[in-house]
Amino acid sequence: MSDPRDTLQSVFGFPDFRGVQRQVVDRVLAGQSTLAVMPTGAGKSLTYQLPAVMQTGTCVVVSPLIALMHDQLRAATAVGIRAATLTSVDENRAETRGRFLDGALDLLYVAPERASTGDFRELLDRGNVCLFAIDEAHCVSEWGHDFRPDYRLLRPLLDRFPEVPRLALTATADRHTRADILDQLGIPQDGLIVAGFDRPNIQYRIAPKDNATRQIADLIAEQPGPGIVYVPSRAGTEKMAAALAKTGRPTRAYHAGLDPAMRAANQAAFVASEDMVICATVAFGMGIDKPDVRFVAHAGLPKSIEAYYQETGRAGRDGDPAVAHLFWGAEDFAKARQRVGEVEPARQAGERTRLAALGGLVETTGCRRKLLLAHFGDDAPENCGNCDNCLNPPVGTDATEVARKFLSAVFRTGQSFGVGYIEAILTGQSSERSLMNGHEALSVFGIVGGEEAALIKPVARALQTRDALRANPHGGLEFGPGARALLKGEATLSLVVPPKRERRRRGGAAS
Ligand code: ADP
Ligand code: ZN
Repeated sequence: MSDPRDTLQSVFGFPDFRGVQRQVVDRVLAGQSTLAVMPTGAGKSLTYQLPAVMQTGTCVVVSPLIALMHDQLRAATAVGIRAATLTSVDENRAETRGRFLDGALDLLYVAPERASTGDFRELLDRGNVCLFAIDEAHCVSEWGHDFRPDYRLLRPLLDRFPEVPRLALTATADRHTRADILDQLGIPQDGLIVAGFDRPNIQYRIAPKDNATRQIADLIAEQPGPGIVYVPSRAGTEKMAAALAKTGRPTRAYHAGLDPAMRAANQAAFVASEDMVICATVAFGMGIDKPDVRFVAHAGLPKSIEAYYQETGRAGRDGDPAVAHLFWGAEDFAKARQRVGEVEPARQAGERTRLAALGGLVETTGCRRKLLLAHFGDDAPENCGNCDNCLNPPVGTDATEVARKFLSAVFRTGQSFGVGYIEAILTGQSSERSLMNGHEALSVFGIVGGEEAALIKPVARALQTRDALRANPHGGLEFGPGARALLKGEATLSLVVPPKRERRRRGGAAS
């Protein structure tokens, strides 16, 4: 067989392999099943495309999204690889089957629900398959953040071709999920290859939000270059785009509910632009190849650390400095916790662990990168020097007393009032409402004063993140499981005092 590097250069036009690509390709060419965990942008597609080009027979690629398959198809065809997709929207399915049977396809993309049908199995029986590539392989695991039951149905198909190696690919698997993928797809333990996850050129910055729109408008005033703002809802993306447009920056919205032509136009405009801010749901970014994204900002809590890593990973793929901002609120955690309560019972433990890990990331006073990399099993130094906490170490304050007073006021007012009302009670601000409720006679009325008063809002936020308080749908606060330990003096609460704003280099904005 020829040297894989020759094919890399002649077909793909790349001078050399990157990172673990060579290791993965060598295993695949040796017929060994493999799970490759490589961050977004590391070049996963190449690890099956190259063997597919070098070998006779077709590589069957299982991929979860039609849009993603078509992106891949376009990219593969562009470099002269013989590829096709077999999906419900493809009208040339008969022709594609014919090409496969003739041995005229290097790559055949298919969705898991089609791959597991009897029809597809019979098709493969009659042709020649050299490799199964399973993209987004974390979808096979209930531990993964994006479980897809259809992925579970792949195993019988794979087992029917025991001599064909399997290559599972994912960007986002923690240790638990990796073990599960190996198990579910029948890949040996020693078939695991993990690339380094560090993205040293990305600066991580995480802050509580008071008004995310204003905070993001402030930051884009100082931050030149193209950027992505992730907004939790479709309507929110359009509102955010309209609000940010007032800063004078070109902005667009992107979400799955937009008219397809407009969606494509907005995406194309962003890819071509050098200063556009695109306000998008997380549907945006998959399959988009824009190396010079200078910042990614989350206007709300991501779904998991994996999702955060993947979404922030779209910044700075060219290796130049980029910034990842996250603005989070206590209400994000409350909502997420509510959603956890709604998923099927078997998955709740995993979801709860995922949420706790996110809580750890936003609340840590230590290095964000270290925590992030530890999550993926990577070692990292204590101090990365390129995250908010390393650049400007926060000072911790003991807020246990204020937390107890807050909980006590919540309890005494009947666990039905919101943060603003409790704050007014604690600081002794009289109102018609508190008079009528008789709350001004409570021992907690006016119990917090002076410097402590500034801690009330941050304390309320921290109590909700820790599940010591939960907001009901009307915003009223109730005790959560974490309240007792604090009230009984068995737990303490230390708060981060936001450091004075560090000086940041001013970018293109006029000053
Ligand atoms: P992933 O699927 O891991 O996110 P892709 O397969 O989309 O990454 O590849 C990301 C980008 O890197 C693509 O533009 C691809 O062409 C490029 N790329 C892949 N391998 C190499 C390489 N060895 N040298 C240079 N560029 C590469
Ligand atoms: Zn750091």
